[in-house]
Amino acid sequence: MVDRDAMQAQLKVLSDAYAAQLPEKLKQLELKWNQFSQANWDKEDFLILHRLVHGMSGSGRTFGFSELSSAAFKLEEYLKQAGEKNTALNKEQHVQIERLLGELKQSASRSDKAPAEKFDWIAAFSGRSRVSVSRHVFVVEDDHELSDELQVQLSYFGYEVSVFNTLSKFRAAMKKNPNVVVLMDVNFPEDEFGGIHAAAELQQGRDVPVPVIFLSAHSEMNVRLESVRVGSVAYLTKPVNIGLLVDKLDELTSTQSQAAYRVLIVDDAAHLTDYYAMVLEQAGMLVKVVNDPLEVLRPLSEFTPDLILIDMYMPGCNGMELASVIRQLDEFVSIPIVFLSAEKDLDKQLSAINLGGDDFLTKPIEAHHLVSSVTSRIKRSLLLRSFMVRDSLTGLLNHTAIKSQLSHEMARAKRQGLPLAFAMIDIDNFKLINDKYGHPVGDRVIKSLSRLLKQRLRENDVVGRYGGEEFAVVLVDADSRVAMKILDTIRNDFAQLRHLADDHEFFSAFSCGIADNEKFSDASRLTDAADKALYKAKHAGRNQTMIADV
Ligand code: GH3
Ligand code: MG
Ligand code: MG
Repeated sequence: MVDRDAMQAQLKVLSDAYAAQLPEKLKQLELKWNQFSQANWDKEDFLILHRLVHGMSGSGRTFGFSELSSAAFKLEEYLKQAGEKNTALNKEQHVQIERLLGELKQSASRSDKAPAEKFDWIAAFSGRSRVSVSRHVFVVEDDHELSDELQVQLSYFGYEVSVFNTLSKFRAAMKKNPNVVVLMDVNFPEDEFGGIHAAAELQQGRDVPVPVIFLSAHSEMNVRLESVRVGSVAYLTKPVNIGLLVDKLDELTSTQSQAAYRVLIVDDAAHLTDYYAMVLEQAGMLVKVVNDPLEVLRPLSEFTPDLILIDMYMPGCNGMELASVIRQLDEFVSIPIVFLSAEKDLDKQLSAINLGGDDFLTKPIEAHHLVSSVTSRIKRSLLLRSFMVRDSLTGLLNHTAIKSQLSHEMARAKRQGLPLAFAMIDIDNFKLINDKYGHPVGDRVIKSLSRLLKQRLRENDVVGRYGGEEFAVVLVDADSRVAMKILDTIRNDFAQLRHLADDHEFFSAFSCGIADNEKFSDASRLTDAADKALYKAKHAGRNQTMIADV
């Protein structure tokens, strides 16, 4: 998809622009230094000086001026050290700074003539590699009954589990350096704190520690303290609360399942959009490019971006007008819009922001600056949005959000001629669980089902909490029969989950009704039909799935 030669050529244009503004930057720097060195010590001025140098040390390398970057870096380091005491610089420091400034100017004049080096993407982004924890769990437990039970229960939540009943077998397996989470018993027959000792041994000489969760019959402070000292991430007491354990495991492994950020770029200059797309894709984002601003509506609703980057000046419709149009669409009232432009006039930037933009990035923009601005904007807006559309107990979409997602997905399925199924799920005899074990235990059952649904459904499927103990699922690219297969597997697994209430164990189950868009083509008829099918499943004896017919 990405044409690297074209990108390289584009980068050349940008680095030329960078080179062109260098003399001005240097002049500013020199001016500031002259002012500063002739006046009394001034903290503010010193910080400005430092920032100017810092800017060069960071940006030079992006555009292939690494010699300039390192000269600026040297000066920056020296300034930092010299300014530490917050008192006037001495003679020697003055001389040294003048010398480093001279070196910086020289390297700038050399890079003027030499062509920019090839840009090194790998180096630019190597600091961003994600640490991922696999969903493979090593259970180290001498109690066979408990280890087998953990293996079965965790597998329902999509974890791969290997069991080791002795420490020596576990040690042998760890020699291969597997990427796993370790679930470790504390007490072993040969050593009362065998688990702690084995964990301490395990972490020795590792840059990234292996995540270890301890299981123990003891809750004393000294054992907990020892566990923390060997770097444990959690400490659970027996009998093991599977819900808590899975929460912890999900938290540890969640980096993997986070969906990539989606960015829509609108700019008439194709070579530029390709460059931005490449930069953002390299940082792991999904990017869609629109070169004609008048064509933005369809990609907007189909691609459902998390953020929109818009060029300020385009033929036919400028960036500010486009932002106003987008803001008038209900679904996009809160989407972050960032303008990209060579515009340096602050008044113009501000008026663009008044018209619905959130931020303004000035071209040429450094790759890492683009990535970090986009990332932080998206993070914040996703967090805010999640407060509005998520249910607080389960983190699933709330009633309103799932309904709007259903309409959205139905429209898309219709356009693409794809099947879509809608399922309504209701926990059986839930009132009894509440009555018998209390409301908090009921809440845990709701959470365990929501977790199971989230883990088992495909990434594009949409899951919501429809009401108290009712859930709704939109299965994309699936008809009723496919959906039934998927949900019946989940239903069978859920029915075998062991729930814990004080020292009682119990099981729960759900019923499910399914309808698809082949038989029911509008959203309200589809939900009605699924609801009726659910009612039938309840009537037929619960813990089963029914498909709606016309
Ligand atoms: P059926 O098999 O027919 O679905 O029977 P049921 O008992 O599950 O259905 P019913 O609708 O009679 O009862 C649902 C109960 O769920 C009533 C309500 O108090 C309880 N409930 C609703 N929301 C929550 C919640 O957030 N937490 C807990 N613990 N209980 C809830
Ligand atoms: Mg119920
Ligand atoms: Mg109910």
